[in-house]
Amino acid sequence: MRNAMSVDVEDWFQVGAFETVIDRRDWNGLEHRVEANTDAVLDLFAQAGVQATFFTLGWVADRFPALMRRILAGGHELASHGWDHARVFTMTADQFRDDLSRARTALEDAGGQAVTGYRAPSFSIDTRTPWAHAVLAEAGYAYSSSVAPVRHDHYGWPGSPRSLHRPLRDAALVEWPITLARVAGREVPAGGGFFRLLPNAVVERAVVRSNREDSHPAMFYFHPWEIDPGQPRVARAPLRSRVRHYARLGAMAGKLRTLLARHDWGRSDAIVAAHADGL
Ligand SMILES: [Zn+2]
Repeated sequence: MRNAMSVDVEDWFQVGAFETVIDRRDWNGLEHRVEANTDAVLDLFAQAGVQATFFTLGWVADRFPALMRRILAGGHELASHGWDHARVFTMTADQFRDDLSRARTALEDAGGQAVTGYRAPSFSIDTRTPWAHAVLAEAGYAYSSSVAPVRHDHYGWPGSPRSLHRPLRDAALVEWPITLARVAGREVPAGGGFFRLLPNAVVERAVVRSNREDSHPAMFYFHPWEIDPGQPRVARAPLRSRVRHYARLGAMAGKLRTLLARHDWGRSDAIVAAHADGL
């Protein structure tokens, strides 16, 4: 079964973990590494013959339009990760509408292709944002991959469906939650920092379980900064955030190469379209 390989395209200073110590107004003056790191991710995918979905910040598309065109030229899907990584539960419905629209304009202007997929920063669609899926449907999105159906210290919507589903009765919009992996009696998102920190087998088991037991494609994700051991260190961030952000960055590219070879991976939009009839 084909599973979704996705990348959340944001720079090392735009992550939720550093939100309290790096002001958005200072972003322009920081060292921008997202373009080189995303190019390295494109190389990894090209070597593996994998096409993926790049959920990209409008802020990044605005500054690096040529990178958006290289993503599309590789046969990948360019999708939205919002404008500047504001989490959905910090916004009103109107602010969310504006954030979506600003990001989409930047992505579509840069890439010249329609954007139909969205991922909320830090999986921030949950019980606090009961209007979010309706706003996405009104804006014409085909799907969202914005829910972590688990309890985590920063995010999560425990009890939400765990696989592709239609969250609204009167709209075709599909929600594709992040796949969960089981480790030491807990469930964690199959991707990002957990993938970096844990043996590959934990995520591989989650993919196989999703495919075999539940007959559903798995959704995996990571960030370009996760393959960049040379990124600047944010010394004043909380210890817990630093441990999560910096651990095993040097191992990530090799782990990804192994994972890419182990399963069948593709773009989210194509997989959603292939499964939509059965939902
Ligand atoms: Zn993100």
